[in-house]
Amino acid sequence: MKIQDANQLSSRTMHSDICIIGAGPAGLTLAGALVPTGRDILIADSGGRRFEKEPDELNAMQTDSNFLYRNGRSNRARQTGGSAALWAGRVVPFDFHPDLDREWSELPSAIVPHFDEAFRLLNIEPDIRNDHEHQPGELYGYWANRTQRFRTMVSGTRNGNCSLFNHLTCIGEPEFDGDRLKSLVFLNQKMERIRISAGRFIFAMGGIENSRMLLLMREQIEKRLGEHFGNVGKYVMDHPRISHGRIVPKGSTSEITRYLMKVTPRGMYKTGIRNHPVHTRAYCNIMVIPGKLTRRVMRLPARSFQVSSKKLLLKEAGLLRTLASQGRLLPVLSGTDPVSSRIMRFVNNRSYSTYKMMAYCEQRPRAHNRIIIGTDTDRNAQPVARLCNHLHPEELYDIESLYRRMEKHAGILNCTFSWDPEFVNNPANYTDASHIIGGTRYSGDASRAVVDHRLSVFGIPNLYITGSSVFPTSGVENPTHLIIALSLRLAGILKEDVAKYC
Ligand SMILES: Cc1cc2nc3c(=O)[nH]c(=O)nc-3n(C[C@H](O)[C@H](O)[C@H](O)COP(=O)(O)OP(=O)(O)OC[C@H]3O[C@@H](n4cnc5c(N)ncnc54)[C@H](O)[C@@H]3O)c2cc1C
Repeated sequence: MKIQDANQLSSRTMHSDICIIGAGPAGLTLAGALVPTGRDILIADSGGRRFEKEPDELNAMQTDSNFLYRNGRSNRARQTGGSAALWAGRVVPFDFHPDLDREWSELPSAIVPHFDEAFRLLNIEPDIRNDHEHQPGELYGYWANRTQRFRTMVSGTRNGNCSLFNHLTCIGEPEFDGDRLKSLVFLNQKMERIRISAGRFIFAMGGIENSRMLLLMREQIEKRLGEHFGNVGKYVMDHPRISHGRIVPKGSTSEITRYLMKVTPRGMYKTGIRNHPVHTRAYCNIMVIPGKLTRRVMRLPARSFQVSSKKLLLKEAGLLRTLASQGRLLPVLSGTDPVSSRIMRFVNNRSYSTYKMMAYCEQRPRAHNRIIIGTDTDRNAQPVARLCNHLHPEELYDIESLYRRMEKHAGILNCTFSWDPEFVNNPANYTDASHIIGGTRYSGDASRAVVDHRLSVFGIPNLYITGSSVFPTSGVENPTHLIIALSLRLAGILKEDVAKYC
């Protein structure tokens, strides 16, 4: 992949066969899968190769919510690798539910076959799922030994037909040729306008920006989308989370250690507990309360402790066990030799005196939870997004049921569990989970959709969208594994399309 700084461009126009806007997991996965087509692929991304303050400020947004939306870099990142540049890399494959996920219609049968490849792209050997016993009512999260932070994917996609332009921000201003989108305008940091024309455009700008861009183009696209334009920005969801509840083992034989993070030769995993959903899904993780020394080390910036997944292990397993497990990763030790097995047993066999509970809930798609255009403007003088998202009483009801379930489960685990229903029922005690879902959704019911089953925007056949903004429902699973599988599905669609028409 050729990487260029858009601030150095000499020309004010560019052309490519395929223009992907956004170099996060969604855009980079798509580009990587399309490279073998030999078509010219241009990726435009607002950010630089690493964190820079200026592009990150373009994520400015207004919120209207009954739970807490954290600001800035705890929420999204504008840089190569997108928001995955910030993450700890928790990977949870989406578990489609026959009733709750009905709006996905026929999409799962086209996406699920890409799940194993999505695991591999995330640096996780899919067989890790077979390393432990799966119990009904549980949810499993996986971490690779080495977290894939997508920035590294750029160098992995070495090919002359793919170029990534940093510091190039799409601002819309579309031109059409019949029903086809012909070109869009971009700004570099010198505020120079660059018009890019392409055969196909793909929005991969993340949960907020995919919606915002369509809303900013309202004047030019509203008639083309027809009734579907009314759905743009609607049905936004997150996985609001609450950290509350203390679990104390009654003796030394508690089964609670089942829920601590486990280290295996293929990577790490953690077992969570799911609810029996009445309206919405929820799950909880049992968290270790870290000691003083661990808390101090945790405060070190992620880069100085290599990657944040290791910090997570540190929090869960303590300093000594983390160092032991990381030592195992030295190439001299394989995962199956007796020394490694002993170290692994030492790392995994641990117990603590107190635990806390962290619960995540699903938000159902509701039309009033939506992205609209706000009153402020960003540093490019473009109106910012305003995110309106409220936790619904049904969602709180299901979280409360999960806490009640946990009460019973703690007894089975030989633990006591203390919590306060009033605290759990107050939305103000929840924060976002940096999982912004919906806004440019697919739905089996086209009257509630923005894109069709080919992920193409209704009325603009050569404009496609990928990312969690397309999901019609959110489940409770972390979204990136599904985003990657969705991008692989879109790559398949585009490959067929390019073979037919180009
Ligand atoms: C702190 C944190 C922790 C997280 N932890 C996890 C986790 O453990 N597991 C998990 O599955 N998910 C996690 N997530 C969510 C995960 O990072 C996102 O789901 C994922 O990055 C979304 O991928 P994306 O490519 O769709 O969007 P993004 O990663 O947001 O990438 C979008 C890209 O588009 C670019 N862009 C935006 N607007 C424009 C524009 N107008 N013009 C040009 N370029 C533009 C941005 O610069 C960015 O690079 C976490 C997120 C955060 C913030």
